[in-house]
Amino acid sequence: MTLTTHATLGAVIGHATGNPLLAFIFGFISHLLIDMIPHGDTGIADNYKIHKRRRKQAIAYVMVDAVIAIIFVLLLANTRDIESMRAYSFGIIGGVLPDLLVGIYEITKTRLLRWFNTMHFFFHDYFVKRKGDVPLYYAIMAQIVLIAYLQTKL
Ligand SMILES: [Zn+2]
Repeated sequence: MTLTTHATLGAVIGHATGNPLLAFIFGFISHLLIDMIPHGDTGIADNYKIHKRRRKQAIAYVMVDAVIAIIFVLLLANTRDIESMRAYSFGIIGGVLPDLLVGIYEITKTRLLRWFNTMHFFFHDYFVKRKGDVPLYYAIMAQIVLIAYLQTKL
């Protein structure tokens, strides 16, 4: 999923729990679970891993995704009366952290994170492996609809 989707879901979980620690834990778990829904990024991952020439495009996708997510959660924080800023923040942190860990693993290949990387992609690829992926365009449209819905829950 896009980081904006993970971050917004984390924010809603923060709002629902009202507790920073629970927000963090459930935000983290929500990442793995929502990633199970096929969301069109298999091609991007393959571009990065196999087709070296298209690497730049995959990296650009991640950069655009990350900056949009930052802007979006800041806009939410500045336009809503967030009851617990701590729960909001830790929900978001838990929601996006798995992809940070996967990114650090991709860069360092450290053994400390190998198990986590494997677990992340166990969830991420669970249905994609069996049923195939969906086109990225539709997946992004669906995520915009989901984000539009989720932000009403804040
Ligand atoms: Zn992920």
